[in-house]
Parts: sequence; structure tokens; C-alpha cells
Amino acid sequence: IAMYAAKRAGKGRLARWHAGMTPPNADDLRLRQPLTAAVTDRRIEFAYQPIVRLADGSVLGYEALARWSVAGQPISPARFIPVAQRAGLLGQLTEQVLDDATAQLSQWSRRLGHDRLRIGVNVPAMLMTDPALPALVARVVDRNRLQPAQLVIEITEDALVEDFEAARRVALLLRDVGARLCIDDFGKGYSSLVRLQQIPLQSLKIDKSFIQDIDREPEAERFAAALIALAGDLGLDVVAEGIERAPQAALLRRLGSTFGQGFLFARPKFAGQIDPRTNYADSGDCAAPRAEVPVD
Ligand code: C2E
Ligand code: MG
Ligand code: MG
Ligand code: MG
Repeated sequence: IAMYAAKRAGKGRLARWHAGMTPPNADDLRLRQPLTAAVTDRRIEFAYQPIVRLADGSVLGYEALARWSVAGQPISPARFIPVAQRAGLLGQLTEQVLDDATAQLSQWSRRLGHDRLRIGVNVPAMLMTDPALPALVARVVDRNRLQPAQLVIEITEDALVEDFEAARRVALLLRDVGARLCIDDFGKGYSSLVRLQQIPLQSLKIDKSFIQDIDREPEAERFAAALIALAGDLGLDVVAEGIERAPQAALLRRLGSTFGQGFLFARPKFAGQIDPRTNYADSGDCAAPRAEVPVD
């Protein structure tokens, strides 16, 4: 990369990019400036998608998902999160999602009259090694008078790959605070099972690529079954991501996945469009709808 950069810089100019830095891609060039402004002005919004108990369609909690539009055109977080990362904006953005999600949960908890509803927040790998994260989590939980266990920190496997020792220390601190830790997109990454065993975890979210074809291909079904069994053997809750069709939900229920999330139940929506008392038994073809099920 150093050579590439020097070559591009031409005669008499210092290379702006050096080994260890990647050259800006088209999205960086196009989105970095407006994204910086949007994050600074707190114009990133957060949508919420329910995580449902497959047995009865009741809501376990919601996941907060960042939303950003430029000139009325929504830009997928899959595109702008990497840009935010390279622009050094992810710390700020994570503070904002933690703020928004905990304030929202506090409102819903008051409306429901109990504190069992959970909120999931995506925390990027880079912050999972930052000892400031547990303190920040404790602060937002406190400020909104939540039970710490209502907050679920979702991390992907890559958080456990680079500096595992640092990530493990942060995981232990999060446990001390009382927040839950969940592996997102499970099965898609490269972390080893040994590492999963070495950090305090409550749940695995099975990546949607494993769920996609389970009702159409026996091979896909066997794979999902194995992942669900593994999670169960490790004593972890399972959330199946990306459920779009009722037969998928039925199959997952049979395979032992307790929880599910996907367009079948609801798309991510802004809080104003959400009633936390909604039951999704009808959309999931559940046998016995019950609105209220005690957790823990
Ligand atoms: P994720 O954390 O795995 O979030 C789940 C993604 O799956 C969301 O995409 C959600 O809209 C989508 N999804 C839910 N149900 C279905 C379904 O039935 N079918 C399909 N095809 N997709 C479904 P979204 O909102 O576009 O977010 C993509 C990724 O961007 C997230 O994946 C997460 O990794 C990242 N992300 C989103 N918001 C944040 C955030 O606030 N902070 C960070 N660090 N990352 C975020
Ligand atoms: Mg997630
Ligand atoms: Mg996921
Ligand atoms: Mg994903």
C-alpha cells in the first residue's frame, strides 16, 4: 500500500496514505462529509425491530438499527457503518444508539408496567476493546432507571479476533455492570469456539444466511439444526435472524430456537409506529398466543 500511495502521489508530493491505512473508496469520498455532519448534528435515527418468542408470538425485546437518508434516499447501514468506522465516527454513533435505545426502552417499560422488555444495541468490534464502554453502558442504564439486564450488547465474532484479551476484559466488565452480551451474525465470522467459551455470553443470533433456505433445502435445515443444538449445549439462548416466511418460523420452533427476528413478524420501524404490547402469534402461525409471559 505504501508503494501504491507513493506512486499515486506523484513527484514532489508526500503520500497521504501509508501502510496500515486503506485508500478511501468511493463511499468514503461520497459519504464521509455528509455522514460526519449527520452524526455531529445527531441526525442519525434509530429504527426498532421486535425479537419474538417463537412459541407464542410475544415480544422479548427490540433491536435498535441505525437509519440515515441523504436527500430522501435511505442509505443502508451496511454501507454507512464502514464509512463511519474509517471516519472515526463510530464512538459517537454508538453513544447515540445507546442513548436513544435506553431512553426508548424506559418509555416502553413505563407503558408496559414492567421491566422485562429488552433492547439490543449493535456495538462495533473496535469498541469492544475499549474499557470506556462498560462505564458508558452503566451510565445510560442508570440515567434511564433500567435494569442492566434489559440491555443486550450485540457484537460480531470479529470483536473476538484481533485483541481477544482486551475484548474479554470488556466482556467481564459488562457482566459486572449486569448487561447481557450476544454474538450477532453467528456462524458467519471466524472466531473460534474456544473464545466463545472464554467470555460471559447469554445468546447467539444465528446469521440470516443460515435461515434463508431452511424451509426449502434439507442441507440448510441440517446446518441450522446443528447451530441451534450447539447453542443449546453451551447453555445459550438462540435468536434466529432473518425469518421471512411462516414455515421457517415453524421449523425453527421445532429445531429448538426459542426466539426469532425477521420481516415475517415486523420490519424495523421508528418508535412512533410501535406498540410494545403487540403480539405476533398470527404472523408467525404460533399455536398459543399469550400477550404476557414472565421472563427469567
Ligand atoms: P444486524 O445487527 O445483524 O441487524 C439485522 C439486519 O437484518 C438489519 O439490517 C435488519 O433490518 C435485517 N433484517 C431483519 N429481518 C430481516 C429479514 O427477515 N430479512 C432480511 N433480509 N433482513 C432482515 P440493517 O438495519 O440494514 O442493518 C445491517 C447491519 O448494519 C446490522 O446487522 C449491523 O451490523 C449494522 N448496524 C445497524 N445499525 C447499527 C448501529 O447502530 N451500530 C452499529 N455499529 N452497527 C449497526
Ligand atoms: Mg445486530
Ligand atoms: Mg445479525
Ligand atoms: Mg447481519
